[in-house]
Amino acid sequence: MDCIFCEIASKDSEAEIVFENEKFIAFLDINPINYGHTLIIPKVHYDNFLTMPVEELTAMTKLGQYLAGSIKRALKADGFNIISNNGLSAGQSVFHFHYHIIPRYDNDFQMRPRTIEYKSSEIESYAEKIRESILKYESLLNG
Ligand code: AMP
Ligand code: ZN
Repeated sequence: MDCIFCEIASKDSEAEIVFENEKFIAFLDINPINYGHTLIIPKVHYDNFLTMPVEELTAMTKLGQYLAGSIKRALKADGFNIISNNGLSAGQSVFHFHYHIIPRYDNDFQMRPRTIEYKSSEIESYAEKIRESILKYESLLNG
């Protein structure tokens, strides 16, 4: 498969690696939003958040918490974003699951998306659609 992140994981492509263990690798994004913008990936290829096995996701999130703290301290950041883009429409450009950790500084925040408004009872109908879908798959949640 032609996947740049698989190539980084297998060391067939170079990256500025900041952390690596048996299952995950973290390296600097080559088009950073801020210096130190880091990507964490599983070494095994999964397309996105939904196709990643939950145990792997849990382990990667735990690592994300550790690395975010390390990055914040190392770069004296005031805050950070943890982002995962999923699907072309959400801005995903590399279809190998990853978290972005982006150090942020006071007054540098330019990523606030536009917001829209619900009309009259629209908020209830959107919530209802989501609640129905959650109930449909509740056995997966509890299983
Ligand atoms: P996304 O758009 O959420 O899928 O994020 C993919 C990210 O990977 C982008 O921010 C790219 O700048 C970054 N990227 C793509 N190729 C490389 C590479 N070879 N090394 C480091 N970062 C990369
Ligand atoms: Zn891959």
